[in-house]
Amino acid sequence: MSRIIVDTCCGPCALTALRIFAPPQHEAHYLFYNPNVHPFREYRRRLESFEELMGLERQPYTVLPYEPEEWIRAVAFREESRCELCYRLRLRKAADVALDEGYEALTTTLFASPYQDHELVALLGNSICRSRGLEFVIWDGRDGYYDAIASARERGLYTQPYCGCLLSERERYDRARHGAAKDE
Ligand code: SF4
Repeated sequence: MSRIIVDTCCGPCALTALRIFAPPQHEAHYLFYNPNVHPFREYRRRLESFEELMGLERQPYTVLPYEPEEWIRAVAFREESRCELCYRLRLRKAADVALDEGYEALTTTLFASPYQDHELVALLGNSICRSRGLEFVIWDGRDGYYDAIASARERGLYTQPYCGCLLSERERYDRARHGAAKDE
């Protein structure tokens, strides 16, 4: 059995991970660290949805303090590269937790979403984990994304309308300026 930390962006994407990282192959611990989600009330809705799901599924989990300052400092003046910096920030923190808590492996629910850059997440995750002696587990849950969203809605879980940061919220709603949207 592999002991693995699952970096988790939200409840709906955790639904897919719960199916993949299940016993007896995996002993998963879910980690909620999302300083990239703004504003605070949106963060709180996503956290409540995540905690509700973890409770329903009786999964162990950890929530790290909400510190949007960390995300702001990570991307300031480099907004054009913000997603890479955002992934790096979150994966580094998750890898540090995995190392400190004696886990062997790390993965992320970012792999559940067709709206995220899987190749970049894999590249960063491999590099971050290699330097810490951890395995980074790459998977692809994109095919099941819309089923997971439907399932989350059936279960009454909140499903967010934009990726997370203020800039993604503007992209989602300021269609006159941005056209297509990145939902998650
Ligand atoms: S769009 Fe999403 S992945 Fe990119 S910086 Fe914003 S919250 Fe992070």
